[in-house]
Amino acid sequence: METVTKSTCCYCGVGCGVLIKSQHGRITGIAGDPDHPANYGRLCSKGMALPSTVQSEVGRATYPEMRLERSSPRRRVDWESALETVAQRFADTIRNHGPDAVAFYVSGQLLTEDYYLFNKLAKGLVGTNNIDTNSRLCMSSAVTAYKLALGADGPPTCYEDLEHAQTVLFAGSNMAYAHPVLYRRLETAKAADPSIRWIVIDPRRTDTAAMADLHLAIQPGTDVALFNGMLHHLIWEGLVDRAYIDAHTDGFTALKNLVRDYTPRFAAELCGIRVEDLVQAAEWFGASPASLSLYCMGLNQSSHGTDKNLALINLHLATGQIGRPGAGPFSLTGQPNAMGGREVGGMATMLAAHRDVGNPAHRAEVAGLWGVETLSARPGLPAVEMFEAIRAGRIKAVWIVCTNPVHSMPDIDKVRAALNAAEFVVVQEAFMQTDTVPFADVVLPAAAWGEKGGTVTNSERRISRVRQAVPALGEAMPDWWIARQVGVRMQALLHPHRANLFDFASPEAIFDEHRKLTVGRDLDIGGLSYDLLEQAGPQQWPYPVGSQSGQARRYADGVFATANGRAKFHATQYHTLAETTNARYPFHLLTGRLRDQWHGMSRSGRAAASFSHAPEPTLTMHPDDAERRGLRAGDLVTVASKRAQMVLPLQLSDEVQSGTVFAAMHWNAQFMNSGGINEISLNTVDARSFQPELKHAAVRVEAVALPWRMLAARRGDVLALQARVQPLLHECAYAAIAIEADLLVVRAASEQAPAQWLERLYDALALPVGADTLEYRDARRSISKRVLWADSALAGFVFAGDIGSADALLDKLRDAKPWEGPRLGAFSRQPAGAAADRTVCQCMQVKQSRIMRAIASGATLNELKATLGCGTVCGSCIPELKQLSDKHKPLQSIGVGK
Ligand code: SF4
Repeated sequence: METVTKSTCCYCGVGCGVLIKSQHGRITGIAGDPDHPANYGRLCSKGMALPSTVQSEVGRATYPEMRLERSSPRRRVDWESALETVAQRFADTIRNHGPDAVAFYVSGQLLTEDYYLFNKLAKGLVGTNNIDTNSRLCMSSAVTAYKLALGADGPPTCYEDLEHAQTVLFAGSNMAYAHPVLYRRLETAKAADPSIRWIVIDPRRTDTAAMADLHLAIQPGTDVALFNGMLHHLIWEGLVDRAYIDAHTDGFTALKNLVRDYTPRFAAELCGIRVEDLVQAAEWFGASPASLSLYCMGLNQSSHGTDKNLALINLHLATGQIGRPGAGPFSLTGQPNAMGGREVGGMATMLAAHRDVGNPAHRAEVAGLWGVETLSARPGLPAVEMFEAIRAGRIKAVWIVCTNPVHSMPDIDKVRAALNAAEFVVVQEAFMQTDTVPFADVVLPAAAWGEKGGTVTNSERRISRVRQAVPALGEAMPDWWIARQVGVRMQALLHPHRANLFDFASPEAIFDEHRKLTVGRDLDIGGLSYDLLEQAGPQQWPYPVGSQSGQARRYADGVFATANGRAKFHATQYHTLAETTNARYPFHLLTGRLRDQWHGMSRSGRAAASFSHAPEPTLTMHPDDAERRGLRAGDLVTVASKRAQMVLPLQLSDEVQSGTVFAAMHWNAQFMNSGGINEISLNTVDARSFQPELKHAAVRVEAVALPWRMLAARRGDVLALQARVQPLLHECAYAAIAIEADLLVVRAASEQAPAQWLERLYDALALPVGADTLEYRDARRSISKRVLWADSALAGFVFAGDIGSADALLDKLRDAKPWEGPRLGAFSRQPAGAAADRTVCQCMQVKQSRIMRAIASGATLNELKATLGCGTVCGSCIPELKQLSDKHKPLQSIGVGK
C-alpha cells in the first residue's frame, strides 16, 4: 500500500513542502504539498525529479569504508571500527597539535539538528572554531551586509511580499532557474496586475531578464556603481524618504557625500548601460508604493560581495522601502538550509543563535548553556583559508560532511593538493560518485533525503519539518547520529570527566536544546517545538514563548537590531573586479546554473530528466565574438585562465554580451574529463565575508584541434554504466557523459585515441565481441566501430575515429524499434540526424521542434499548453515557452503582411 509522508524538498532555499509517496520501503513518487505556505502544491522540475535520485542503490554509500594506509585502497569495515578510528585519529591530532589542527567542513544541505551537533562537537568539545560550510560559498556576503546594515542576520521580508510588491528588482539572480517556485508566484502576481514593474540587473539575458520590463545588462562586477548612481539620482531629484532616514537610520551624510561623485551619467558609463535606463530604474524603485529586491549569487559570489549587498540595502533605507508589505531587501538563500546553519552558528565566524565568536559575552553564554568552561576566542578559518591551512599542513585532519569541495571550491587544484597533504580525511556522504570521495581515508555512509528527519529553515525564515519516508539504504545512518557517535567517543578520549555533551536520543532532543539557546535573541524560537510544527505546520522565526504565530516581516516599526535601534548606511565605493580582462585574457567568464541540475550533480545527475534540457557542458559565446575568431557552434574550444584550462563545446547565443562567455557550474569529473569550471575560477575572497569570487574570472578562448572523435551509447543500468565509464574520462582532452532515460551517451575527443582506451571503454559499456556484435576496424585511419544488438534491437555502439553517422545511429537507439535490414547497414553512411532537439518541457517531455511547429502554425502560449501539455505541470519551462513564442510569432499574428 502506498504511504504518503509530508516533508520538504532538499534542493534550494525556497523550501517547498512535498508529499513523498512510498511503497515497500522505496520512494515511488512525489507531489507538492498544497498546504505548505512556500509553494502551495507547486514544485519545479528539480523537485519533480527527486524520487529518481534515490531509487537506485547503485552509487550510494551503504556501508563504512576505511583504508589502513594512505596508499592502500579503502575496504569495507563495520560502524564500530569506523567511528572508533575517526574519534581516535581526531583525538590524537588534537592532543599532539592542538584543537586548531583539526577542521570540519560541513554543508547547507544538512538539517538544522545535524548542523547543531557538528557545531557543538567542534566548538564545545574540541575547542576549535575551525568549522565552516559550503554556505560560505553561497550567502556569507548577504549575512555580513544584513548584520552591518540592519544589525542582525536574516531577511526582513517574507514570501507574501512577492505578491505585494509593485516594483521587483532582481539583482544577480536568475530566479527563473534558481528559485523557480517563487518565480512562479511572481509571474502569477504580474499576470494579475500588469502594472507591476520588473527590473533585472544581470550581465546575461537570462530567462529571468528576458521577462523584465527593464533589463540592465551591466558590465560584470559594476553593481555598486549602478546602485550608487541610482541613489545619486534619487537624492538629487528629491525622491528619497527624508523622514524615514531621519527617524530610523545613521550614516546618510557620509553616503550622500560619496554618491555625489556617482552621477547617473558616470555610473551608467561604468556599467556600460544607457543613462536613461539607470534613471528609469531609480525612479521605478524610488516612486513605487512597494519595492522588493531579490538577490542571490550574482551579488554574493564576489570579492566585493558585502559592498554590493550594502549598496542595495542603502537604496531601500534611503527610500523607506523596508518593513512594509512588498518592500525590502530579500536575499534568496541558495541551499535548503543555509538559514538553519546560520541559526545554529555552524560557521567559523559565528556562534549558536546568531552570536559572534569575537564577543566574550556571547562565548560565555554559549559555554554556560552547554556546560563547558569556555569556548575558543581564536577565530576559525573560513572555507578558502581552511583548505589553504590544510595544504600548508597547519590543519592535519578534516571531516567533510555532505558537500563536495573538490568540485565547488574555487581553483580546485589547490583543494586537491590540500586533501592530498592532509594526514586524515573523513568524508560523510550519501553518494559515492563525487569528486571528493576518492580523497577519503574513511567514508561514513549518510542517509539521503527521504531517509532521515529533522528541520530546515527556508529563505523567508520559515522552519519546516523534514520527515523520514523510507528506511535508510544499507547501513547508512542520519548525519546527527554519526556526529553524536563520534562525539561521545571523542569526549571519552579527551574529556572523560565532563558531563555528556551529546546526550541526545533523537533530532527532537537536539532541536529542543537549540531553541533554548535562541531565547532572547533576534531569532528567538523558544515557543516552537516539534509538536507545534506537527499541529500548526511550518512557522517563521522569531517565534518566542507565548506567540500565536511567527513574524512575517521584520523592522515594521523602524526599530532595527543595532545597538541604538537605527539602521546603518554604509558608504560603498565601487571597486573593479578582482581579476580584470586584458589582451591575454580578454573575456569575462561568468558562471551560473542550469534549469534542471543541482550543484555538483551528485543527486540530480542520477535522474535522466535532469539532462534533457542541457545534455552537455558548454561555453556560451556571443555570435559576433565567435565570427571574429572563426569559431562555429559545436566547435571544441579551450577556455583558459591564469590558473588552468579546459576544453568545452561552443554554444552561440546573444544571451551573453560581446566580451563575456558563460559556463554552468554543475559539471564535474563524474560527468566530464575535468573537475569543471572551478578548475579555472580564482580564490580571491571578500575581505569581510570571506566569500570567494566564484562568479567571474578573466579567460581566453581559443580553437583547439582534436581530430579524434568518439560517440558511444549503451542501453542499460545507466548509473552502473556511468560509474564504470567515469574513470576513463580524464584520459581524453574532452569527454562528457549524458543520461537519456535508460541510455548512457558518451562523447569524447583527443588529438589521438588514448592507448588501450577503446578496449577499456568496450569493457565498461559491456560491448563484448560476440554473435550479436558487429565490428569495423581501419587501423590505418584509426577508425573503430562496434555495434551491439539485443533482442533484435540496437543495444549500444561505439564509433571512434569517424563519427559521421553516429548521431543517426543514436537516433535509432533512442527509437528502440526492432532493427530492419542487414545489420551491416549500421556502418553505412546515413543521413545526418536532425539537429539536436532539446527537451524544453521536462515534465511532459516536449521537444523544441514540436513547440516550434505549433508556434509556426499560430499557437499562443495558452494553446501550446492546451495542445502539447508543456508548461502545465511544474511550470519551469514557461519563461522559455514565452521567449520562443515571442521570438518566433508568425508574421500574421503580429499584424505584418496584412
Ligand atoms: Fe525544490 Fe524546486 Fe521548490 Fe527549490 S523551487 S525547493 S528545487 S521544488
